[in-house]
Amino acid sequence: MPTETVYGLAADAANADAVARVYAVKGRPRDHPLILHVASSEGLDRYGADVSDSARRLAEVCWPGPLTVLVGRSAAVPDGITGGRSTVAIRVPAHPLATGIIERLGRAVVAPSANRFGRVSPTTPRHVLDELGDALDPSRDLVVDGGATTVGIESTIVDCTTPVPQVLRPGAITAAEIERIVGDVAAASGPARAPGMLARHYSPTAAVEVFEDREAAERRQAQLTADGVAVDVLDVDDPAEYASVLYQRLRAADDAGVAVVLAVLPSPEGIGIAVRDRLHRASAGR
Ligand code: AMP
Ligand code: MG
Repeated sequence: MPTETVYGLAADAANADAVARVYAVKGRPRDHPLILHVASSEGLDRYGADVSDSARRLAEVCWPGPLTVLVGRSAAVPDGITGGRSTVAIRVPAHPLATGIIERLGRAVVAPSANRFGRVSPTTPRHVLDELGDALDPSRDLVVDGGATTVGIESTIVDCTTPVPQVLRPGAITAAEIERIVGDVAAASGPARAPGMLARHYSPTAAVEVFEDREAAERRQAQLTADGVAVDVLDVDDPAEYASVLYQRLRAADDAGVAVVLAVLPSPEGIGIAVRDRLHRASAGR
């Protein structure tokens, strides 16, 4: 199903078979928990326990929207979606098709990005079919067409279980905005808790190299082209536009047989911070 961030592989969170299939189709390790998508902030009280004031404030100001809060889990949270943790991640997506589906079902859905684990998230129905077509069963699976997603990168994840909320994964809603809303914010610490915290993630088949400025990328382009390597330069001026086309451009590079994507990083402000984060992870480990 479409959301404003990326397409999600949606399943009834209370249906253990459906949840198992989401993990299987994605090839996602079972200890990577899934985000509960709910239709309104009432979901915070239904599925959350010990909900902190910061979580409440963030829900009030940012939902529906691209922000996920991590809170204690209530007894209503199905086993098998939290990776055995005592916390749960919750968000209200800002997309009428997503909230419509959740409302009709009458309970939360899980909706991790509809791609194989570690790879580029889909932002169009075509991407979903390209990525998961083989695994889908036309007799029981549907791709809901909401056109291209608007934000283009995954939600900001904020851990609201610590005295000072921590940003586990940057997104369209920035740490600066979160600080304005709740008064204080910290960078993530401790062991990796989010896919956004794995060094290598969000990766296309092409190698990705990142550059602070266009000139450096062009020098590298000249060098690689002279060596006969197929390259693509990724450089988008407006950071929100960059986020919205990022994954589509990485997929297009793979489709065109490009070997190396040379990405010019946006400046580290606003959503540019999250775009830099995704590009660094897409380029890691090469
Ligand atoms: P996504 O890749 O968009 O499906 O986001 C899922 C990520 O949200 C997980 O890999 C976690 O890092 C974070 N998350 C979800 N649920 C929990 C939880 N119960 N405890 C800690 N982190 C969570
Ligand atoms: Mg994902």
